[in-house]
Amino acid sequence: TVEVHDVHKWYGVHRVLNGVDLTVRPGEVTVILGPSGSGKSTLLRVVNHLEKPEIGHVSLDGELIGVRRQGDRLKELSERAILNQRGRIGFVFQNFNLFPHLTVLDNVAAAPVATGRLGKPAALELARDLLDRVGLADKAGAYPRQLSGGQQQRVAIARALALRPGVILFDEPTSALDPELVGEVLSVIKDLATSGTTLVIVTHEIGFAREIADRVVFIDGGRIVEQGPPSEVLDKPRHERTRDFLSKVL
Ligand code: ATP
Ligand code: MG
Repeated sequence: TVEVHDVHKWYGVHRVLNGVDLTVRPGEVTVILGPSGSGKSTLLRVVNHLEKPEIGHVSLDGELIGVRRQGDRLKELSERAILNQRGRIGFVFQNFNLFPHLTVLDNVAAAPVATGRLGKPAALELARDLLDRVGLADKAGAYPRQLSGGQQQRVAIARALALRPGVILFDEPTSALDPELVGEVLSVIKDLATSGTTLVIVTHEIGFAREIADRVVFIDGGRIVEQGPPSEVLDKPRHERTRDFLSKVL
């Protein structure tokens, strides 16, 4: 379970998140929608402790992310402890962010080896299984630049799976892709959803959201405006701002 509790984030006078509360339960698929600049990426980055909230906190299975309590104050964890926690939260970026100098297989095997979780042979075996799962077994020896965007994103998903995270965060995983490559990436994400992986996905693909989301969260101005099952938020939105947003993206 991921719990985001009263998170506020600001840069100078610019308030980006204004008291976000969100709970993601095991096996749930949460889709986050909202206009550009509404704070969606920042929220994912706070969950992964790539950004520190000014107020509030995030926990994963009851354990605070990035900090620990000392008396009534919060103290930052060591870099090592933070990296360890991040291993339990997969992150898939808009622009894939693969290591360009490593083969596809080594991209996927890198993290389990670097974190000492698996020896090299076991990590390579796991990486082969994961590449097979995303339909890229035949690309193990290729370098990222030799792949299409859709293939690179599928490698990035396999890489995120390699640490067996409790939850995977996706930040607009298909928005950098040519239209004809979107489907293959969505279908891999859909497989994860049906196999019970906990997912939080920022996307503008409304049809996809309707199909796979247990819950849709609409964010505007750094606040959750409304949330609920797709049949409510997408089909019968209660707030004017949600209706306005949906009329623009549908
Ligand atoms: P998009 O749909 O365009 O990706 P978003 O909902 O993901 O938008 P964020 O990237 O979370 O929005 O940004 C929210 C606001 O915070 C934006 O106005 C952005 O300019 C601002 N912002 C984000 N990161 C920083 C930063 N490091 N320094 C200053 N302002 C920032
Ligand atoms: Mg964003």
